[in-house]
Amino acid sequence: MKTRKRLWLDIGKPGSLFTNFEYIQDHAVGLLMTILKNAGIGISLASTRNVVLKRQLVRKFQNVDILIMSVLSFHYPFAVKCSKLFKKVNPGGIVIVGGLHVSVAIDEMIKVKEFDYICKGPGEKIICSLVTEPEKYPRVIEGNGEKSMAKWPFIDRTLWPKPALNLPGHKDVWPLEKYSIEQPPSVTILTSRVCPWQCSFCNESSFIPNMVRRPVEMVIEELNMVDKYFGPFNSVIIHDSNFFQNPAWLKEWIEKYPKLANRPWPYWAAARSDTIRKWPELFTQLVKKTNWRTVSLGLESGSEPILRILNKECTEEDNNFAIDLINDIGMEMAAKGQEPPRIYANIMLAIPGETKSDAKKTVAMINRIHRVRPSISYFAPYPGSILGYQLIAEGKSLMSESDYHRFPGKATLKGIDYDFYDQLLLTIPNYRTSHKIKSLAIKLVKHYFSKVLGAD
Ligand code: SF4
Repeated sequence: MKTRKRLWLDIGKPGSLFTNFEYIQDHAVGLLMTILKNAGIGISLASTRNVVLKRQLVRKFQNVDILIMSVLSFHYPFAVKCSKLFKKVNPGGIVIVGGLHVSVAIDEMIKVKEFDYICKGPGEKIICSLVTEPEKYPRVIEGNGEKSMAKWPFIDRTLWPKPALNLPGHKDVWPLEKYSIEQPPSVTILTSRVCPWQCSFCNESSFIPNMVRRPVEMVIEELNMVDKYFGPFNSVIIHDSNFFQNPAWLKEWIEKYPKLANRPWPYWAAARSDTIRKWPELFTQLVKKTNWRTVSLGLESGSEPILRILNKECTEEDNNFAIDLINDIGMEMAAKGQEPPRIYANIMLAIPGETKSDAKKTVAMINRIHRVRPSISYFAPYPGSILGYQLIAEGKSLMSESDYHRFPGKATLKGIDYDFYDQLLLTIPNYRTSHKIKSLAIKLVKHYFSKVLGAD
């Protein structure tokens, strides 16, 4: 029997990996590609992030029998276009899809006739048989994953897509990564997958099953191994939805990371303000002893009623406590000549039920943070989240299957005064530049959709 040619298509913002300016990689792609490689299953990889012309994609699709894609909600319209293009090039080809959007919007996936096999949930334990014998499966497949992250292999980072072009003056760091918030080269890593909270705007718990955290020593061993083969690197980005959970694990991290890591690399990791308030000592030790340089904090809103609408389970007081603590630690460390921590502030505006004074309180909260990088979204009613489902059912959503963006500058909900919010954003000093960059990015993506990939 003829060996079938398989292609994994990494889906992301078109052209965003075309140069080596800034990029981070997708751990789902890395993990599943590593599992396939370890099982001796041949597969090649292409990325929409490092092509800019339709004909480049057509070339990648030539003579491919099976196309595999992991689809996030944000990339859903793009994945549909890619599958249609693939079928045009290979009318007898097979398309296999998985990823978050399958779990949160299965109906949207099923109605795309080009998606031949649709895998719902984690795929680690079925990926090998799915890509070698897809015909054995029904069209919609229940995935199967590991119970513990200790079972995951170390990702073979050379399987990740490489920037197509090296910009002069920008060092080629692949397979290490570059992220503007941390000093490059960076390494991204996961230590945990589960977030036990149920924020009403977030669909995380609807697609990630319970999973045991990666042992501390394994995380450090993987970082040391990346350092040995591809290093040196300057920072670590811990991609967990919520790093600051499970005190026993965190205490072990405080004890072992400074001792066992080749270097105590500064890192970026996420926390919630309620747990910072619950365990301030533990948090302070982590920042001071393990080089937790950037605290990604899900503050969302500075107003109590809005935090309740979001089911954040953090109060205004929790948010203020966390900000004050980080400001204080920062002042103390700066006075000693040490690099102080900063907050990557996750903020949401244009929330249904939010008044202008609620929104102004949120902006005042951001402006109180000493060292801040605001990451601001307008509320978007994504399928899979409780609030998203409710607003879609009430007919208030302006999002469509062909447009799942949520950056400021895009109306996603009926009855919101977006002009007010656009003006309000301009009062945040640290935000103006990144806002301009994001607006430009949206325009480029829209251009790509309409002009480069063209109509169906
Ligand atoms: S927003 Fe953050 S804390 Fe809330 S459920 Fe999602 S991942 Fe968890």
